[in-house]
Amino acid sequence: MTDDPSRHWKPQTALVHGGTQRSAFGETSEALYLTQGFVYDSAEAAEARFKGEAPGFIYSRYANPTVAMFEQRMCLLEGAEDARAMASGMAAVTAALLCSLRAGDHVVAARALFGSCRWVVETLMPRYGIESTLVDGTDPAQWERAVRPNTRLFFLESPTNPTLEIIDIAHVARLAEANGARLVVDNVFATPLQQKPLALGAHVVVYSATKHIDGQGRCLGGIVLSDKAWIDEHLHDHFRHTGPSLSPFNAWTLLKGLETLPVRVTQQSASAARIADRLADHPAVARVVYPGRDDHPQAALAKRQMSGGSTLLCLDIAGGKAAAFAFQNALRLIAISNNLGDAKSLITHPATTTHKNLSDAARAELGIGPGTLRLSVGLEDVDDLLTDLDRALAAA
Ligand SMILES: *Cc1c(COP(=O)(O)O)cnc(C)c1O
Repeated sequence: MTDDPSRHWKPQTALVHGGTQRSAFGETSEALYLTQGFVYDSAEAAEARFKGEAPGFIYSRYANPTVAMFEQRMCLLEGAEDARAMASGMAAVTAALLCSLRAGDHVVAARALFGSCRWVVETLMPRYGIESTLVDGTDPAQWERAVRPNTRLFFLESPTNPTLEIIDIAHVARLAEANGARLVVDNVFATPLQQKPLALGAHVVVYSATKHIDGQGRCLGGIVLSDKAWIDEHLHDHFRHTGPSLSPFNAWTLLKGLETLPVRVTQQSASAARIADRLADHPAVARVVYPGRDDHPQAALAKRQMSGGSTLLCLDIAGGKAAAFAFQNALRLIAISNNLGDAKSLITHPATTTHKNLSDAARAELGIGPGTLRLSVGLEDVDDLLTDLDRALAAA
């Protein structure tokens, strides 16, 4: 394996060719193995495979050739030793958190989490005796103060949803290391191209592949990546026996998504940067948050930690909810939708959709006001997007 040329491929090459296992037919595009199980040449062969003495697939809840190609391609991109693909981002997050924890353990997480992730940490885990503390992830002292003798896991996403705060991954990773704990990073917003949590010291990376990795609004998916020892010890059995497996069809769709990921993320980020600059100068916009701009509250950290400015931006419309709704309703090209990372530009009003379950106080802590909107910039011509935004801002 040490002379495997794929290990030296640059990301754009790995994303087109990585992990491909051609069948005897020599197909160009990756084969779609829509099969639940596999047959054995003999009873002895079945026995050997179950004993782990012979290679090969057993059952698609454990592993499947199309899913394995997706996992392998993601490992090359992330620089991870091993991975397990899952049916959704939330299946991946839940497995990544629960597989190594037990009653009596303690988790420290940033409070600015994707809504369902916050529910898993705040509501689900305590039912099973796992305690958690939520902190302002941008304040290093809060992470340090939250550590207890039984802290086993740290969990964060950066940039955060929807206000695009940046958390210092290397700092939290060092803190985890010093306390014999692990850091899990949800890297959805940054994409695997613009931020490398494992290189910054994180132990586990999770994705909702539903977002930029598919990038064309077709299917759900997720993945957990780490070193082989952690996956063997914690995730392997949990994954096989709880069954959050990714469908081979969705794995095939995601493989196709990976081929174009760099082209899409590069163009979407360039358009997001231009839109952020235009909105920042607009009198109807009270605030723009974009990690690629020098006026981002953590611009220096964003530059150090990320290699791009993000495909997402956050804005506050002057005039609160009524103005934010009038603005969204006046858009003709940009669609109102809570998904992100899509080829189509999508806008959402977090206070009434993705973050409606939080109290007013919790929303205020996260910087989500009545006029806050999250814009996921798509692949349309940026001039058409600017025209749509200008017209809608005039209407608001
Ligand atoms: C969407 C998302 C998830 C959940 O992913 P699903 O594929 O919808 O289950 C988790 N974390 C972040 C940051 C997300 O944006």
